[in-house]
Amino acid sequence: MFNFLSVFAASYLWHSLGVTIGYHRLLSHRSFKCSKAIEYFWVLGGYLAFEGSPIWWAAIHRAHHKYTDTQLDPHSPRYGFKNAYYGWMTPKTYPVYIDPKQQCPDLVTDPVYKFLEQDGQWHKAHGLVAASGLLFRAGLWSLFGWQAALASALAGAAVLQIPLLLNVVCHTPKLGYKTYAREDDSVNVWWVALLANGEGWHNNHHAFPGSARSGLKPHEFDLSWMILRVLHSFGLVSQMHEATPETEPATPKIGELVGTTAKAAA
Ligand SMILES: [Zn+2]
Ligand SMILES: [Zn+2]
Repeated sequence: MFNFLSVFAASYLWHSLGVTIGYHRLLSHRSFKCSKAIEYFWVLGGYLAFEGSPIWWAAIHRAHHKYTDTQLDPHSPRYGFKNAYYGWMTPKTYPVYIDPKQQCPDLVTDPVYKFLEQDGQWHKAHGLVAASGLLFRAGLWSLFGWQAALASALAGAAVLQIPLLLNVVCHTPKLGYKTYAREDDSVNVWWVALLANGEGWHNNHHAFPGSARSGLKPHEFDLSWMILRVLHSFGLVSQMHEATPETEPATPKIGELVGTTAKAAA
């Protein structure tokens, strides 16, 4: 039992930080810099939690920030719970207004990410992520036994729920609070922040999408930011963008892509 719980805890930490630090704050928002080895370490953690192709994830997420809670937002709960929760993942390819070459020029040149993206054929990319996840657990089973494999698979499945849940809960105004008045529905939700390593401070995040720090008030616990600060103190990450409680948020305009690379914003 101890073995099972410790593997579950370690796996949950790696996979969930892989999503929050790797897929989200690094690939989607470029809120800090690090070596390719560190980048791949986090992204692999997210990938093995069934997060899908990194280019696909970042392209959809950048579109979410660009069109937040409008009809072009890939997963706004304003236009249906089912679509916001999982329906947005089921089409065979990108909607016409999302082109990864335009919106993720910084990612499409990476050969690993390009391979995982399968030319935008989502069913192939999703198949690849499922096969990789299963193969990884089969490897764990053969090396460490079925308990380790099961604990890892359950942690990956739990982590997969985090962004899906967040897309719905943190865009439902009655479920949280707004520190920053915005036209969109983003809210801060404490229990999502606990489960999702600080990502639940989602109203703060929409106010400062390019910030590597999302928890701003003293009670807004942000594990991803704490880990990034530790990595920074060891020289493993650099140039972290940091919003503070005193920072004035930019006035958001629909169609403006904030917090990614200047090129991606064009
Ligand atoms: Zn959002
Ligand atoms: Zn974001």
